[in-house]
Amino acid sequence: MSQQPIYLDAQATTPLDPVVLEAMLPYFIERPGNPSSGGHRYGWEAAAAIKEARKRIAEAIAAEPQEIIFTSGATEANNLAIKGVAEAYLTKGRHLITVATEHQAVLSPCRYLESVGFEVTYLSVQGDGLVNLTHLEQAIRADTVLVSIMAANNEIGVLQPISEIGAICRQRGVLFHTDSAQAIAKIPLNVQTLNVDLMSLTAHKIYGPKGVGALYIRRPSVKLAAQIHGGGQENNWRSGTLATPQIVGFAKAVQMGLEQLESQTLRLQALRQKLWHGLESLQGIELNGHPQNTLAGCLNVTIHGVDGPRLLAELYPHLAISSGSACSSNQGQPSHVLLALGRSPALAKASLRFGLGRYTTEAEIDQAIHIIQNTVAKLRGYNYLNLLKPSQSKK
Ligand SMILES: *Cc1c(COP(=O)(O)O)cnc(C)c1O
Repeated sequence: MSQQPIYLDAQATTPLDPVVLEAMLPYFIERPGNPSSGGHRYGWEAAAAIKEARKRIAEAIAAEPQEIIFTSGATEANNLAIKGVAEAYLTKGRHLITVATEHQAVLSPCRYLESVGFEVTYLSVQGDGLVNLTHLEQAIRADTVLVSIMAANNEIGVLQPISEIGAICRQRGVLFHTDSAQAIAKIPLNVQTLNVDLMSLTAHKIYGPKGVGALYIRRPSVKLAAQIHGGGQENNWRSGTLATPQIVGFAKAVQMGLEQLESQTLRLQALRQKLWHGLESLQGIELNGHPQNTLAGCLNVTIHGVDGPRLLAELYPHLAISSGSACSSNQGQPSHVLLALGRSPALAKASLRFGLGRYTTEAEIDQAIHIIQNTVAKLRGYNYLNLLKPSQSKK
């Protein structure tokens, strides 16, 4: 029983690509300078590496380098975008719009703002996870300062119509922020054609290091109140010594992701399809999310006729998957995303999220299908026995 569980949790995080690690290594010991040290060679080396990384990440989303602010990840980028805009536009109003299926890193800052006097509209979603654009238009008011809607959902993989949302926000004169932690280097992103004003990114979902991300801020039109004050780095928007190795690794990960975007998308779509067909044969299984508008590597299903926590407990030794997001599932709560799709709490708990990635093989998918088929059959068998012979159940 020493076999490792098959890793199918790419939406929670991904391992570092060895090529990314290679790019980072010199910046730990050989080139340790602080990029803000303008007087000597070590500082220049670090500053040059940051400059190059900033340029690459900006290009990946069709932005300018000075519009990229490095952060510790997408959580910080979301906080900076949402609280930073809310504080900077007090004279315009105190109303924000987001969606019930957002990541906690968007919902929590919104709830915090509500606690200090802002008003937030949480749009519901359709059964397929998509935002209703008419509802969005109706929710925009004269005092609305920000719309925050994610590009790709971390639990069900659903891709929101970012281009249409951007067009609506632009037309109504409201800033548009999109949490693109799951989308960067997986789907094409262009802040110009999408009319995005702020975009949150992170490295560790795309084979980059944990602890680094970025916020794109459209310049010069977007005002922002800093959330971390200090030495004035990043144009005063985010103080703190820049993490050179992480930033170099982030840029490398983005570059590699873009190079492989098409080939990986096709490969993952085929694997996902194979997994879905394998699971479908179980009967009593439902797809969560939209069948087409989805991340290639994400599959979320609800399995009827089993106890969710029991199913997960049986699967965990063999499969590294999750029910809901990494953040909510360890608290035993049903996923807020699946509840928003209309699933009952019990069915939300009997749901599995598969995250397929760069290192997932076809053999692993075959194995996963086999394990789930056997486990579900076993649990359903017990259920049926219990149903059939209630009088014989031991007391
Ligand atoms: C992972 C994730 C985050 C959090 O990113 P960190 O870099 O871990 O802070 C935010 N939003 C979405 C959609 C995510 O998938």
